[in-house]
Amino acid sequence: MREISLRLGGQAPAARTECRGGKRFAWLYRIDLAKPKVAMTLAKEAALDAAMAARQSCCTCRRRYFHCIPLQTLGACLECYDGRPADPASYTAPPAPHLLAA
Ligand SMILES: [Zn+2]
Repeated sequence: MREISLRLGGQAPAARTECRGGKRFAWLYRIDLAKPKVAMTLAKEAALDAAMAARQSCCTCRRRYFHCIPLQTLGACLECYDGRPADPASYTAPPAPHLLAA
């Protein structure tokens, strides 16, 4: 559905296909009842980026990684937690401090 820019639109599954003797299955939906996908607004995109930034940013070194870091268990990135060096290609540099004088 998503690949052809459609969404389910609240419809119930029309059929179920199975493989591996019924161990794996997938629900099938009717295309004629599907609705066009809702485009993401700029505000939605900004909110999603803020949520991901919270999961990917280290509070200690302020780096933003390209993957989620174990904040709930370690509270920081691995480099800040135990000194294990992080691959420089796995994060973006922390934002530079403002250097403007009043
Ligand atoms: Zn860190």
